[in-house]
Amino acid sequence: MNEFDSERIAYLLDNEGYFATENIYDCDIVIINTCAVREKAENKLYGHIGNLKNFKTAKPGLIICVGGCTAQNLKEKISKDFPYVDIVFGTHNISQLPELILKKIKSNKNICEIKEKGFDCILDKFKRTYSFKSYIPISIGCNNFCSYCIVPYVRGREISIKPEEIYKTAKRLVSEGIIEIMLLGQNVNSYGKDLDKPITFSHLLDKISQIEGLKRIRFMTSHPKDISAELINIIADTPNIMNHIHLPLQAGSDKVLKMMNRNYTKEYYLEIANNIRSVIKNSCITTDIITGFPGEEREDFDHTLDVVKKVRFNRAFTFIYSKREGTSACDLIDNVSKKEKKEWFKELVTLQNQISLEENQKIVGECLEVLVEGKGKKNFLEGRLENNSVVNFEGTSDLIGKLVNVQITGAKSFYLTGKIL
Ligand code: SAH
Ligand code: SF4
Repeated sequence: MNEFDSERIAYLLDNEGYFATENIYDCDIVIINTCAVREKAENKLYGHIGNLKNFKTAKPGLIICVGGCTAQNLKEKISKDFPYVDIVFGTHNISQLPELILKKIKSNKNICEIKEKGFDCILDKFKRTYSFKSYIPISIGCNNFCSYCIVPYVRGREISIKPEEIYKTAKRLVSEGIIEIMLLGQNVNSYGKDLDKPITFSHLLDKISQIEGLKRIRFMTSHPKDISAELINIIADTPNIMNHIHLPLQAGSDKVLKMMNRNYTKEYYLEIANNIRSVIKNSCITTDIITGFPGEEREDFDHTLDVVKKVRFNRAFTFIYSKREGTSACDLIDNVSKKEKKEWFKELVTLQNQISLEENQKIVGECLEVLVEGKGKKNFLEGRLENNSVVNFEGTSDLIGKLVNVQITGAKSFYLTGKIL
């Protein structure tokens, strides 16, 4: 979602005649688009802004803008601690940015423009990073209030974009050469419930999958509590809907899941994962896991490891719990030491890396379709399989943006190697 916002910012500024520089020291305006999900992103932001101080002293006309979720969340702190930041703008103020820059140039006064609520997302106004694949947001915001998560506070309540608008955008993108679309929402499975004419996410997928020339459809994220049998069936039955579901587990213990306000149990999660594995051929399930949630004990963590072993996730994004001010988990008491949490985290990562490696090894020797996405390391090309795994192979850059057949020759935990056929 944050990357899509950056594409919107790029579009708006391109339209005003600005252009992107390759080297930060050549530019007149710096825009930092921030994330607030974990504290690490916040700390990185401070590092980046700090690094810009000398640059600004050397180039006084430089305009520094900080936007996105952290800008929204910590507007006072950023304005106060970094007075050389010229513009602070929120997630609902993106379309105003060109106007804010002009205002800054004319008045030379610092600007802080944050709308707490609103809908500021126009689907036909973004600059695509790739010529062959694109994001389309289908909803913004979130209603779930998982107790650790800041997203509902900074992005607001869930608003679904009208299906006609999504369809029209998808059609236009395909007519412009896009062959892969990633539909984005914090919880795609609750899409459409708030519309005047409610529709389900499966319905939307079905409609979009019928667009001629659209080779690959992806979507994220699926909240386990809202996933339907209808969705699993449609993925299984529709060749251009990819066999990959990102299904964040967060934790394996019912006690922790309850404290996280996730609204499902371990047993329910395992049942869904089993359904996916049995209905979708060669299914790929990836996940997000948080360790060290307040009150999580060894016994709880063991349930997480148990789910990881049973589901055998193809890949997992693992995070150490990060306290976010204003969320309800902030009030929970935490008796577990940091050291212990770090050890669990390592244990989880080691287990998952081994499983990812074994799952990747299972497809060595197979011949599979790859969308070539760009140059990889050395003289290699990098592409993705239907299941979203990365494959590196030798080839020429004229293949970028094309679907090619690749024989898988080797496997690591995080990528595969192959030979183009
Ligand atoms: N809407 C998505 C998640 C968006 S945030 C969903 O519900 O799955 C992406 C991931 O960041 C989450 O799945 C979670 O694993 C992680 N995350 C969110 N808040 C966090 C926190 N406070 N500490 C650690 N990880 C967090
Ligand atoms: Fe955050 Fe939960 Fe919403 Fe995902 S579903 S964005 S984790 S509140």
